[in-house]
Amino acid sequence: MSENTIKSTALKYALQNAVQFNGKANPKAVIGKVIGLCKKDGINPKEVIPVVNSTIQEVNSLSLEEQQKQLEDLAPELLIKEKKQRDFSLPPLPKATQGEVVTRFPPEPNGFLHIGHAKAALIDYEYARMYDGKFILRFDDTNPEKEDEKFYQAQKDDLRWLGIEWDEEYCTSDHIPRHYELAEKLIKEGNAYVCLCKSEDIKTQRYTGQSCPCTTKMPDEHLKVWKQMLDGSTNAILRLRADMKSDNTAMRDPTLFRIIEKPHPRTGTTYRVWPTYDFTGAVEDSIGGVTHPFRTKEYELRDEVYFYLLSLLELRHPHLMEFARLNIKSMPVSKRKIKPLIDEGVVEGFSDFRLPTLQGLKRRGITPQGIKAFVFQQGISKVESTVDFSIVEACNRKALDPVAKRYFFVADPIKLTVSDAPPQIAQLKLHPTEDFGVRAIQTQGEFYISSDDAAQLKVGDTFRLKELYNVIVDSVTEKEITGHYGGEELIQQTSKIQWTTSSDYVSLTVLISGPLLDENGDYNPESLKEIKGYAEPTISSLSEGEIIQFERFGFVRLEKKDGVLQAIFAHK
Ligand code: ATP
Ligand code: MG
Repeated sequence: MSENTIKSTALKYALQNAVQFNGKANPKAVIGKVIGLCKKDGINPKEVIPVVNSTIQEVNSLSLEEQQKQLEDLAPELLIKEKKQRDFSLPPLPKATQGEVVTRFPPEPNGFLHIGHAKAALIDYEYARMYDGKFILRFDDTNPEKEDEKFYQAQKDDLRWLGIEWDEEYCTSDHIPRHYELAEKLIKEGNAYVCLCKSEDIKTQRYTGQSCPCTTKMPDEHLKVWKQMLDGSTNAILRLRADMKSDNTAMRDPTLFRIIEKPHPRTGTTYRVWPTYDFTGAVEDSIGGVTHPFRTKEYELRDEVYFYLLSLLELRHPHLMEFARLNIKSMPVSKRKIKPLIDEGVVEGFSDFRLPTLQGLKRRGITPQGIKAFVFQQGISKVESTVDFSIVEACNRKALDPVAKRYFFVADPIKLTVSDAPPQIAQLKLHPTEDFGVRAIQTQGEFYISSDDAAQLKVGDTFRLKELYNVIVDSVTEKEITGHYGGEELIQQTSKIQWTTSSDYVSLTVLISGPLLDENGDYNPESLKEIKGYAEPTISSLSEGEIIQFERFGFVRLEKKDGVLQAIFAHK
C-alpha cells in the first residue's frame, strides 16, 4: 500500500465516521480502522497515523452536507452500510468515548441460549458497534458441575443466527492461574481468608451478622491452607473479608473460590478450585478491558462486592450498567427453569417450539429480525416487568408481513360442491402487495372449505371463493355444503373464503403452542395442540424451514417430521 492508498483509505473512513457522528470524525476510531486494514498489507502503523490525522483535519473542516456528498462519490457502500446498521437506537452510554467502548456477553456454557440471553447479547453488541468499539464473547465457564463441551459451539451458533459477530472470544477458564495470583494477593494482604466452617454455620453467621471464627488466623496460615485447597488435601472455601454487619447481605464475606471436583469440559482435572460469580464477574470485566459491562438488575446487591473487590485488587473499575431481566408470561426465560422441563420429558428437548430458547423460537417461525425489534423496543429500562409473548409476535409479524408468501389452508375441511361451475384456472397471487408472482390452480366445482367458514353459511347466502367466483348456498349439512355458481362480479361485503380443490391438496398437521406454564409456573399439559387440514398442493414444493402465511389463518413455519411435511404455527 502506497502513501496514496493510505490517504484514500483514511479519507473514506474519516468521511464515514464524520457522517455517522454529526460531522466530526474521531481520530482514534479512524486510526484503528485504517491501521487494521493496512496491517493486512504489511504497512507499519507509524506511517499511517500522520496521514490519518491530517486527513481528519481536512474532513472535519467540511460541512456535514459536503462530507455526505464526498462519501457518496468516493465510497457509497460505506454510506449505505452505515444507514443499514442504524436500524435500532439505544440511548447514549455514560462516560463513553467513540472508538474506546468495550462490551462483553458472558454466557455460561451450561445450556442453550434463550430470548433473555438474546436481549443481553444484542444490547452489548449494538453498543460496541454504536461506538465503533469492541465486543467480546466470554464464556464464563467456572462451574464444571453444570457445564458441557457441546454448549460452547451451540451458543456461538445461536448468536450467529441472531446476526451477532464478536471481535474477541475467550474462556474464563483460560485465566485460572491469574485468578489464583489475585487470590493470593488478597490473602497476603489480609483481605481474604480460608473458611473451614460447615455451610449451615456460614449461613447462620451471615444471618446473624457474626464474624467467622476462621478470621482470627493470620494471613500466613490462610495462605498455607489455600495451597492445600489447590493441591487437593483440604476442602474449604475462600471468602472475601468484607463486612459481616453490612445491611447489604451480599457483603457478608461472600465466597470467592470453592472446590468442585468434577472434571471441567476444557481443562479436565487441572483445577479443582473454581472462582465464583462474584470473583469472575468483577475480575474478568476489569482485566478483560471491558468499559461498559451490563448485568441484569437482580445482581444489583452484588455491585458493592464487585467494586470493593476491584479496589482491594487495585484493578480498574468498569462502568457497570444494569437492565431489567426479561420475563415473559407463561414462559420459562431461564436455563434453570427450562432444564427441568427437558429432564422430565414434558417438552421434546431444548428446541421444543413452546420454549423461548432461540432454537425453539426459530422452529416456531420467530425471526432474528423479530427478536431484534422486540429487544430494542423493550430497551434498557431497569423496571422489572413481565411482558406478554404477543409483543414478540407483533414485532415478528412486522418482519414477516412484507416477505412471507401467502397460501391457502383449510382447517377441519368440509366438502363443497358447486353445481354448474365453469372449470377455471385460478391465478392466486403469492403476496397482496409485493410482486412475488402467482400460482395457478385448476378447479372443476368440487372443493374443501374450513368448517369454521362453513359454520357461518345458511341456505340462500352468497359468498365468494377467493380469487374465483361467487357461490349461492343451496344446502347445508354437517358433512357437506352444496351451492350453485353465482357469477364472477365482486360483490361488496360478501365473505371471501379460502379453499382447496377436492382432487388436489396436501394433508397437513399444524402444531400450535399454548401457554407452556400455568399461573403457578407449572407445566401446562394442554400446551400442545394440533389442527389438521388440507393445504393447496403448491405447499409440497416449498422447502423445509420456509415461513409462509396461510391466509386468514396465520403465519406458519414448514418442517418435515419423518419425511412428512408439517407446519408449526407462529402467530396470527
Ligand atoms: P439462566 O437463569 O438462564 O441460567 P443466567 O444469568 O444464569 O440465566 P448466563 O449464561 O450466566 O445465564 O447469562 C449470560 C448473560 O445473559 C448474563 O449477563 C445474564 O444477565 C443475561 N441473561 C440471562 N437471562 C436473562 C434474561 N432473562 N433477561 C435478560 N438477560 C439475561
Ligand atoms: Mg448463570
